[in-house]
Amino acid sequence: MSTMPSIPNLSSIRFDDPLPEAVDVVVIGGGIVGVSTAWFLARRGVRVALIDKGRIAAEQSSRNWGWIRQQGRDPAEIPIAMESRRIWEGLARETGERDLTFTVSGCLYLSKDKDSLEGHEAWRERAKEYQLDTEMLSADQARGAAPGIEGHWVGGLLTKSDGRAEPFVAVPALARAAQRVGALITEGCAARTIESENGEVCAVHTERGRIRCESAVLSAGVWTSIFAGNLGLDLPQLGVRSSVGRTGPAPDAGLPNLFAPGLALRRREDGGYTVTTGDIAEHFLGRNSLKYAIKYLPLVRKANRDIRLRLKSPADWPGAWGAKTRWSADEITPFERMRILNPAPSAMVKKRLLKSLRRCAPWLLRAGIADFWAGVIDVSPDAVPYLCHAPSPAGLVIGTGMSGHGFGIGPAAGRILADLVQNRPVGHDLSRFRFERFSDGSRVSPGPY
Ligand SMILES: Cc1cc2nc3c(=O)[nH]c(=O)nc-3n(C[C@H](O)[C@H](O)[C@H](O)COP(=O)(O)OP(=O)(O)OC[C@H]3O[C@@H](n4cnc5c(N)ncnc54)[C@H](O)[C@@H]3O)c2cc1C
Repeated sequence: MSTMPSIPNLSSIRFDDPLPEAVDVVVIGGGIVGVSTAWFLARRGVRVALIDKGRIAAEQSSRNWGWIRQQGRDPAEIPIAMESRRIWEGLARETGERDLTFTVSGCLYLSKDKDSLEGHEAWRERAKEYQLDTEMLSADQARGAAPGIEGHWVGGLLTKSDGRAEPFVAVPALARAAQRVGALITEGCAARTIESENGEVCAVHTERGRIRCESAVLSAGVWTSIFAGNLGLDLPQLGVRSSVGRTGPAPDAGLPNLFAPGLALRRREDGGYTVTTGDIAEHFLGRNSLKYAIKYLPLVRKANRDIRLRLKSPADWPGAWGAKTRWSADEITPFERMRILNPAPSAMVKKRLLKSLRRCAPWLLRAGIADFWAGVIDVSPDAVPYLCHAPSPAGLVIGTGMSGHGFGIGPAAGRILADLVQNRPVGHDLSRFRFERFSDGSRVSPGPY
């Protein structure tokens, strides 16, 4: 009997377009980033094929908390997060897809000490130039904004315009919309490698054959670094397991997306809440952990999370010991060996979550934990994305390293990647998100993680 956990949050929408011989652009990876890119490209009349080794949005993009958050972002990311929120808001209208489920819910951080409050105040000062509607809350205001959440709060940080959506329905719905405007979408089809001619992308090789193209977008989530490695590109990226659950139906307390020490929650469309501790990241040591350790030290020192190292990456995880690092177009690749990365959730996180709920929200504990799952978050050494052209070959564009923010910023990341493919002005300063930042000698300081 299999010991694999069942796959949570899997959509019933299937994508099975025949693989074309030639398109303008092949998008590799059907999470929110690849799907959004395909949507923008196809809507502009570009011939695009989107392929996923497993299912659309079966990895991070269906497993996340569903927060669409501008609050607390790295300053360079704030304008992108703001644009993305605007895109989210208009997507249901533009696509005709009701399942996009964007709701303005607000986002609230509760502080139990002055240090944390000062940190929030410093962030708000830096964010002021973007005219975000973020407010500092007094202790009384914080209590009022968090009905039903017990604790001694000294204040809080609130952005009312932040939102939420249901990841496992929204992303396949956007893929269906992209398909309607002409994108070809194929699940169960891994990209193996990219072929170039005279230094320019000319084809993507998949397990089902070759697709001629002029450009490729690499948006393969936590698999991006190893795909890039096979092309001779050194892209620092590591994965952390993050565990999360949902409650059964519970009263609607009118809560914003809420983060308090040891508890993060959001209201769900099904009448429950997505709940977790929100402060624990587990990294399973693999080959790339050693390779990139030094680059991650500043982030580890600064992170506002309990980072736990686990001894050994499970077999067939990206970068696991013993996994292949190089292959050719006619060999089975690590992507085919792991169709859907479906980690077992952490029992330790669940235990701590139950303790937090008992302390802060006993009414929610009574609703019971109906499901509990995990995802592997792709984190860059400075916890902000890569949104860039690859150094080579020409025509390869990379969108990855979303570092736990990608559900919210995915639509804007897709719009930006589509512009990079078409060599159009992107309207944002992308220097913070360039490929070379960890190898060109510049001093990189980590964003909030
Ligand atoms: C528990 C958890 C909570 C989170 N909470 C939030 C949140 O509240 N808000 C937020 O904004 N973000 C959140 N995130 C982060 C967010 O989910 C991710 O940043 C985002 O989904 C990343 O999207 P992506 O498209 O880059 O990658 P993914 O969703 O991981 O998609 C990558 C896809 O590429 C495919 N693929 C890989 N290699 C190949 C290949 N060779 N060929 C074909 N296909 C390939 C994979 O099968 C996969 O489907 C959370 C993440 C987790 C795990």
